[in-house]
Amino acid sequence: MAKTIGIVTSGGDAPGMNAAIRAVTRVGHSMGFQVIGFERGWDGLLTNTFKKLIPRSVGGIIQLGGTMLHTLRCPAFEQAGGVETGAETLRLNNVDALVVIGGDGSFRGALELGKKTDALMVGIPATIDNDVYGSDETIGFDTAVNTAVGIIDKIRDTAISHERIFIVEVMGRKRGFLALEVGMCVGAEVILVPENPLELAEIVNIMDDNSKKGKRAGIIVAAEGFGDSSKLAQEMQRQTESEVRLSILGYAQRGGSPTARSRLLASLFAERAVELVCEGKGSMAVGLQKGAITSIELEKAAKNKKPLDLRLLKVAEMLSI
Ligand code: ADP
Repeated sequence: MAKTIGIVTSGGDAPGMNAAIRAVTRVGHSMGFQVIGFERGWDGLLTNTFKKLIPRSVGGIIQLGGTMLHTLRCPAFEQAGGVETGAETLRLNNVDALVVIGGDGSFRGALELGKKTDALMVGIPATIDNDVYGSDETIGFDTAVNTAVGIIDKIRDTAISHERIFIVEVMGRKRGFLALEVGMCVGAEVILVPENPLELAEIVNIMDDNSKKGKRAGIIVAAEGFGDSSKLAQEMQRQTESEVRLSILGYAQRGGSPTARSRLLASLFAERAVELVCEGKGSMAVGLQKGAITSIELEKAAKNKKPLDLRLLKVAEMLSI
């Protein structure tokens, strides 16, 4: 009987998850596996809800954002008996390996589940937050960066016309990867990330200096994890001569057609994940390191904190004089 690979997409959705589902399914079939996709994240393992995936059922999805398997955050999976139920579902369906497509939270779920089952666990990092240790980039990050840059370029037009300061809040949860890269790409005057706390007075100083230099419009890119953007906008309005507006980009950053780069990364990660399964190597996470597709222990990927390159903030500062 053919061996079975299960797929689950979990946590926040990211553009390119569908490309990863497609690639795991097709590479898996090419290698002689059956593939099933659990629906709605870990909940699919709690309720034994899945669909059979064949090469034809994953046609026409490479260009679609979101995930055809749906996803959710599933607190019940973390509670007593959660991972045991998940392990029982894998046993019931003779699942030999589970490919988990998600962020570090989903990887922690996979790590706990792996302790209760013989099925191999392989993680594929997918989140727009780009905050998974062991991979320079996650599936969906490039798409989210490009989406945010496209919108902020439009905001820049109106900022210049009205000579206003715009604070633009981008996603990223508790981390500043998205804000940093977006900020660099839109030529932000200030980039605010949780990893580099800045006082209000410092931000006001930068914008006042800019105004004296004749730079009367400005874009401040703030990570959602930096703090309360609306309070920041109010305070900036009070303490500077300029008009200040706030734009929260929100969920638009999570959706949309994945960029070529997100699709490619999804396809290559998936291929490596199936290769690991073929080699019988579980408790691993695939990743991109210095341009190469690699893999590290799942535990490391799930538990370590990925560092943000703060040197880039200095570069951004020089680029915005
Ligand atoms: P992401 O994968 O995007 O980081 P979350 O942090 O919300 O998303 O994690 C996704 C899901 O993973 C959680 O809703 C929960 O079901 C599961 N999970 C996270 N940590 C654990 C854990 N320690 N044990 C079991 N399941 C967990």
